[in-house]
Amino acid sequence: MLQTAIEEKTWILVKYAHALVRPLSIVCILFGFTAIAGYFGSVEAFYRPITNGPATNPLTAICMIFIGFGLRGDYNKPRVLLLQRALALMVIIITSTRFFDVLFNADVSESITPFQRQVALDLQMGKSNNMGINSAIMFFCIALSLQLYGFKRFIASQFVAFIALAIPTISFTGYAYGIDQFYGQMSMLTASTGFALAVAALVMTANFGAVKAILSPYVGGKIARLQTIAGYAIPTLLGYLLIKSLNSNDGNLFGVFVVTICWFIILMVSMSAIFQEKIDHERRIGEFLLTQAAMNDQLTGLANRRKFLEFGQEELCRVQRNGGLFWLLILDVDYFKKINDTAGHDMGDRILVKFGETLRNSVRTVDLVSRIGGEEFAIVLVDTSRRGAERVADNIRSNIANIYVEGWTDIHGPITVSIGCTANDGSQTLEESLKAADQALYQAKQSGRDRVCFADDSECQ
Ligand code: GH3
Ligand code: MG
Ligand code: MG
Repeated sequence: MLQTAIEEKTWILVKYAHALVRPLSIVCILFGFTAIAGYFGSVEAFYRPITNGPATNPLTAICMIFIGFGLRGDYNKPRVLLLQRALALMVIIITSTRFFDVLFNADVSESITPFQRQVALDLQMGKSNNMGINSAIMFFCIALSLQLYGFKRFIASQFVAFIALAIPTISFTGYAYGIDQFYGQMSMLTASTGFALAVAALVMTANFGAVKAILSPYVGGKIARLQTIAGYAIPTLLGYLLIKSLNSNDGNLFGVFVVTICWFIILMVSMSAIFQEKIDHERRIGEFLLTQAAMNDQLTGLANRRKFLEFGQEELCRVQRNGGLFWLLILDVDYFKKINDTAGHDMGDRILVKFGETLRNSVRTVDLVSRIGGEEFAIVLVDTSRRGAERVADNIRSNIANIYVEGWTDIHGPITVSIGCTANDGSQTLEESLKAADQALYQAKQSGRDRVCFADDSECQ
């Protein structure tokens, strides 16, 4: 509920991200079939894009196709989700055979590889052709990510997809740097497909965790996107320069590289801190304005009933703790209906504003003047004696009588007010005080208005 109430912007990037899943999976299925077609028709370029470079092994191509078909992530279609999990499980099994082979020096994966003759022919000719361990880890992670998604473990699914994404990224970097240890046996086709599939698995959870934060339409998202791009591009670029420099045996550049990376990180952190502070500053201002709006009356700018109750309660606690007393005055404009009926609601409002202003000018700054109802006001006089309270009430009456509002007081005569007063020495609750002051006000009205009544006194002044 709260979530929907505060999200005023549409998360358009999350929608775009979700829309990416389908086209990415289709492209990967096509790539997988292209590699298979290469084996089927003995067209080597289809599964080995770079001549004499690494090949996409038939088993890898099958993983691509399975994951491509498995990427759906539609919780409204249980059958589709079941298919996703079944296909992901197959990929987990296939890749696990590869791990098994590496660990125990076996060749289980070979026995389940189709087009074995073609693969064997390649190997005989000294060309690489097997599912690289990095490809196996990558597909295993993507499949695991899909499984976790199926179990509604979205954050875990996203985390594993991130790991999967790192593997083809390393290969790309290796290709870019021209260092083949980086990409090992992963062909460009496998790396591109793996990258696309990992991205697809990642954006399936675009509504959660880090991906959601990066795609946010708010300022935090913009910074996260900028930092993600800079955080990848700049160290990659620096790494490239480092490799160049190491090749030319200029060891000094290594120090420059380390310092630049450190400064880059500091720069990123500072950028975050600056924006964080900016956002927090705006939040603090917003919070202040909200509190103001929640605690003040819009028409008169005085404290509202909520603020009055809060202040009264604090004052009550203070006298209970430290002794002394405070006074509570309830004021009601006399015959206010007549003003509205005769001169209109606008005139009534103008008089209320003037009335509030006069009250505020009649008390000390430590006292609280509030508008607690239509034309009903309450005043808390802190640390005041009875004589003090009487004097303030009288002052108010005469100041109100002196109000000049063009179009009313000049025609109909002065405005008058009735006031009910009560003292609280900490032995009464705030509600009891309010009741007592209200009764005194009622008494003031009953005995003719334009007067001050005290709760403990049957005679009004
Ligand atoms: P009494 O001397 O007994 O207090 O008579 P009264 O006419 O003042 O009676 P009452 O206190 O019941 O009248 C309150 C009127 O105040 C009724 C309502 O229309 C008017 N009122 C309440 N809020 C506002 C407001 O925000 N603006 C204006 N113009 N009038 C208001
Ligand atoms: Mg009233
Ligand atoms: Mg009134």
